[in-house]
Amino acid sequence: MSDIETNLNAVRRRIEAARERSPYHQAVTLVAVTKFHPRAAMEEAVRCGVADVGENRVQEMEEKFRMGPLPVRWHLQGHLQKNKVKKAVAIADLIHSGDSLDILKEIGRRAGEIGKRQDVLLEFNISGEESKHGLDPKDFDAIAAAAGAVEGIRVTGLMCMAPNEEPELTRPVFREGCALWERLKSKFPEGQISVLSMGMTNDFEVAVEEGATMVRIGTAIFGPRDYNR
Ligand SMILES: *Cc1c(COP(=O)(O)O)cnc(C)c1O
Repeated sequence: MSDIETNLNAVRRRIEAARERSPYHQAVTLVAVTKFHPRAAMEEAVRCGVADVGENRVQEMEEKFRMGPLPVRWHLQGHLQKNKVKKAVAIADLIHSGDSLDILKEIGRRAGEIGKRQDVLLEFNISGEESKHGLDPKDFDAIAAAAGAVEGIRVTGLMCMAPNEEPELTRPVFREGCALWERLKSKFPEGQISVLSMGMTNDFEVAVEEGATMVRIGTAIFGPRDYNR
């Protein structure tokens, strides 16, 4: 068994255990985050049953995408710059980083150009850390209304990140994320809001306990990233 397969099995067991502890018993989708790891690592994860892969940067996603078809959904989860939106929209099945109204509009415009309706998540900065991108929960109602009016996109849920802390300290952030997600559901047609993307290697069990339906996990599957690559 490859390291990736061993790690994946362990991560899946931990997700399942957290899901059983969660009051929601929700289905959880695992996004395997392959940033800074080679395409071969992605292929090995796919061989082991991974159906969703996540990247942070458009260029890296595009390089891996161009190496040939893979039976996966492509997730983009890093902050997007306007000049990268066209390429992002050409590839991504789900963009997690809808972190400003401007970027949502640009995503919609570029999607319209290719006859696509782009699935996006609204990324909220719940912890209020200045280093983090994201929409301000204080503006929730106005943002939800404005995002719902943007053509070319389909808001399918909410994404948030917790501070890199002792996992238990992330719980209030995830709890608030779940509460906002419930509010979001009430603002869109029945069934449209289905994704609550929260939880990474450090804190995914807490996120699942608090209702995450999608976790984004890199290190626990692929090992540490080599940023000099
Ligand atoms: C890198 C990254 C992840 C995965 O992080 P790990 O700690 O390696 O699991 C998840 N989400 C986002 C937004 C990221 O940037």
